Amino acid sequence: MTDRVDCVVIGAGVVGLAVARACALAGLETLALEAESAIGTATSARNSEVIHAGLYYPRGSLKARLCVQGRQALYDYCASHGVAHQRRGKLIVATRDEQIGALERIGAAAAANGVHDLRRLDAAQARAREPALRCVAALESPSTGIIDSHGLMLALLGDLESAGGLVAVRSPVLSGRILADGILLRVGGDEPMELIARRVVNCAGLHAQAVAAALDGLPPDSIPAGRYAKGNYYALSGKAPFSRLIYPVPEPGGLGVHLTLDLGGQARFGPDVEWIDAIDYTVDPARADGFYAAIRRYWPDLRDGALRPDYAGIRPKLAVPAGQDADFLIQDARTHGVPGLVNLYGIESPGLTACLAIADEVTARLENR
Ligand SMILES: Cc1cc2nc3c(=O)[nH]c(=O)nc-3n(C[C@H](O)[C@H](O)[C@H](O)COP(=O)(O)OP(=O)(O)OC[C@H]3O[C@@H](n4cnc5c(N)ncnc54)[C@H](O)[C@@H]3O)c2cc1C
Repeated sequence: MTDRVDCVVIGAGVVGLAVARACALAGLETLALEAESAIGTATSARNSEVIHAGLYYPRGSLKARLCVQGRQALYDYCASHGVAHQRRGKLIVATRDEQIGALERIGAAAAANGVHDLRRLDAAQARAREPALRCVAALESPSTGIIDSHGLMLALLGDLESAGGLVAVRSPVLSGRILADGILLRVGGDEPMELIARRVVNCAGLHAQAVAAALDGLPPDSIPAGRYAKGNYYALSGKAPFSRLIYPVPEPGGLGVHLTLDLGGQARFGPDVEWIDAIDYTVDPARADGFYAAIRRYWPDLRDGALRPDYAGIRPKLAVPAGQDADFLIQDARTHGVPGLVNLYGIESPGLTACLAIADEVTARLENR
């Protein structure tokens, strides 16, 4: 017999877990299906763990709205659920006079997004905060922070389970078919099964397009082309002389090689942008030269030999013309015509920050099924 369930979430990364939690709290019988043997081992385990303020994204975009809403919700959630985090603040630095215009554009974009706590610093003010820093000007964002993303995922899982929901690991969704009264899913793994769900949310991250393409009855032309942009990180040996996160002005495809700190104060640099065709998390030691050069623009005293290859993450990018940045794409029946199905594509940064707001957005769209 084929089991029936109110709601299936495909993928148990931070976004899938937040969506599954919200669905369960809304009273839906919810099952999250995860291909791997544990939750949160893909992009959600391979990022900068920064709670972004919402500075860079175009006004009116989903990234802007969901980042700003999600950041506040996330700080509140961390406080109420004991998830480790620190509101360290960050400096975005111009290292040449020609970059001051970029700082002004970021300040204007932030204000348009409702972020009004940025402070403009001159070189002396920036150095007073971070003596090892070299720059000609900076923007200070006091509401940027860092978070234990694994602690967050465990808290989301706890809420999901308390609300009667479940995650099944080693349960890859192989294919599906749109039926008149739901969506049939074929699930592989140790215990292959078939399920019919009235609602399905595709949170498969790097594999969201492949999952969507395996759903018979979903118009193929609704599935956007995607690309992978790897981001490599290097760790710093020894202690960094910084207490805030330090970001250069953004580069195409990413935010530039920035310095982030983990909750123990250990520094790492990255992510850079490397366009790739297949998933591969190896960090090529040969990229170190580019890191030294990028970091020394704002930290000239970085010692030779202080960096070692650390880890990499992969951004699920949507294919857009060169020079443009894509928004998150959250598709419901209004776009693809399948009631009860929501597909999430291109959930790159700031997806961790925005996860609770994305979950609210998805549940609102499911209610309109
Ligand atoms: C280099 C880098 C740095 C980043 N830094 C930040 C940051 O500092 N702050 C921030 O806010 N955001 C950041 N992000 C973005 C953030 O990490 C992601 O938006 C977020 O982790 C996406 O979560 P997810 O659940 O959508 O995807 P994932 O974590 O990739 O989860 C998808 C899950 O789906 C599962 N899956 C795939 N196919 C199937 C299938 N067929 N059946 C069942 N399960 C399946 C996978 O195994 C995986 O567990 C960064 C991203 C990158 C790449």
